[in-house]
Amino acid sequence: MSFIIKARREPIILEGLRAALSRIDPTHEKYAVLNTPHLLDEKNFSLLINDLLHSDKEFIPKPLCVTYSLQKNDVFTGVFCPSCSFLGMTKYRGGWRCPACSRKDSHAHFQAIRDWFLLFGGKITNRDCREFLNISQRQTATRILQSMELHAEGEKRNRTYALTTFGKSEQ
Ligand SMILES: [Zn+2]
Repeated sequence: MSFIIKARREPIILEGLRAALSRIDPTHEKYAVLNTPHLLDEKNFSLLINDLLHSDKEFIPKPLCVTYSLQKNDVFTGVFCPSCSFLGMTKYRGGWRCPACSRKDSHAHFQAIRDWFLLFGGKITNRDCREFLNISQRQTATRILQSMELHAEGEKRNRTYALTTFGKSEQ
């Protein structure tokens, strides 16, 4: 991978990483490490970024849950409001609605799915998607996952979706 590609992608990684880290439960023992003085101290942040940038040639970073020994219940689920950052937009037929500021957004889930991959890595299932976005309908999750240019594998209920490269699934 050329330096130019890395330089172009680094802001996407940084922005994505900050969003993903903001989902970690503040009562988690690692939270203090992750948030001093900012999200990470400069040394650890540099190390992490370096790790992410060099993780592999397809540029899929090592999952944060592996780096920081996080469990699924250490992480806040839901969709962030792009206007007021409220976590917990609700799904309606045309997209997402923020209960705090009434913003409507049809693509708010993109960031959440990217957060999921940064946090957990590997392959996302329909159930993972429903649990993370707090939606109940299997069909809704299927539509969301199919809209994101992910690599689908397996049939019907066993289908999983993987990120092909981080930052590719831009809207
Ligand atoms: Zn809002």
